[in-house]
Amino acid sequence: MTTPPRPRQVIADLPAYVPGRPPAARPGVRTYKLSSNENPYPPLPGIEKAATEALGTLNRYPDMGCTALYAALADRLGVGADELAAGTGSVAVLYHLLQAYCDPGDEVVHAWRSFEAYPIAVTVTGARSVRVPLTSGAEHDVAAMAAAVTDRTKVVVVCTPNNPTGPALTHDELTWLVERVPEHVLVVVDEAYREFVRLPSAADGLALQRTRANVVVMRTLAKAYGLAGLRVGYAVAHPEVAAAVRACALPFGVSSVAQAAAIAALDHEPELMERVEAIVAERDRVLATLRAQGWAVPDTQANFVWLPLGERTPAFAAAAEEAGVVVRPFPEGARVSIGEPAGNDVLLDVAARFGPV
Ligand SMILES: *Cc1c(COP(=O)(O)O)cnc(C)c1O
Repeated sequence: MTTPPRPRQVIADLPAYVPGRPPAARPGVRTYKLSSNENPYPPLPGIEKAATEALGTLNRYPDMGCTALYAALADRLGVGADELAAGTGSVAVLYHLLQAYCDPGDEVVHAWRSFEAYPIAVTVTGARSVRVPLTSGAEHDVAAMAAAVTDRTKVVVVCTPNNPTGPALTHDELTWLVERVPEHVLVVVDEAYREFVRLPSAADGLALQRTRANVVVMRTLAKAYGLAGLRVGYAVAHPEVAAAVRACALPFGVSSVAQAAAIAALDHEPELMERVEAIVAERDRVLATLRAQGWAVPDTQANFVWLPLGERTPAFAAAAEEAGVVVRPFPEGARVSIGEPAGNDVLLDVAARFGPV
């Protein structure tokens, strides 16, 4: 065999995205996947029906303009269809946005530890990912993020609530940061978990986006709306920004099945939000129980909790797996998604036996 051509150096150096693992089949042990922040509820029948009906036109390309989806979202959000840009998950929309705005050597500021897709998406464009450490409370350090903006900065990404640690920014913090970022720099507010937020003072990206042309809000149907497997997310942005993001999208990226299911999910919002309410109640129960056990868990406004285990993380992940629960280990700690109550109970048992850090 001859030697294959080499990819660009940045591709060879990319950090790997580590997906949350599914549990291995274990005879006699009920297992739970709490490693990917997925919605534990299966699709509602009406949503499954819409997706199934769309299968009848699989021989046709999807509507590349996502017309019906944009109309439904525009109606829901009170924005214009020209302010929307959809993609195969909001991660894809972020890729498109970075491609539209970053040249090699540009800088993208984001918190760290935060969503692991950020440094990968940034590096692919040839830009540099500038990682600003979280505060000791596992929150965004907005002062340090503002200070990290340089002449090379093109984009600042804010993850609220922050994956994998859980806290949301307050609206005052986000406003403070946006006011310190020059107008020619985009501020992307990643609101993947916004439906789970119950903090009254939490950041409202859309409210800021209404008056600031450099603010972009990213949302997804993967988490609260339960469509992780179909890949639909979108950005809300100034029409010129949205057009630039759409220009970088793969043609026909969002499938007809995904478009139909997303529209159906928006139609079924009240039922879906009842499920979100149940997940939030479970989250609050898990958080309170862990704290009562002595764990120093940061506030979480998302559908997961963060256990700052440090070096004990691999041992904890192994103990959880032994009990039937797969968590997502990071170098600094473990992220545990809120799942079915029975799975959450197993996690709480493991945490009690393992003992707080
Ligand atoms: C899950 C997640 C997303 C959305 O992912 P998609 O499935 O691509 O829509 C975006 N940002 C963060 C922080 C997430 O955790």
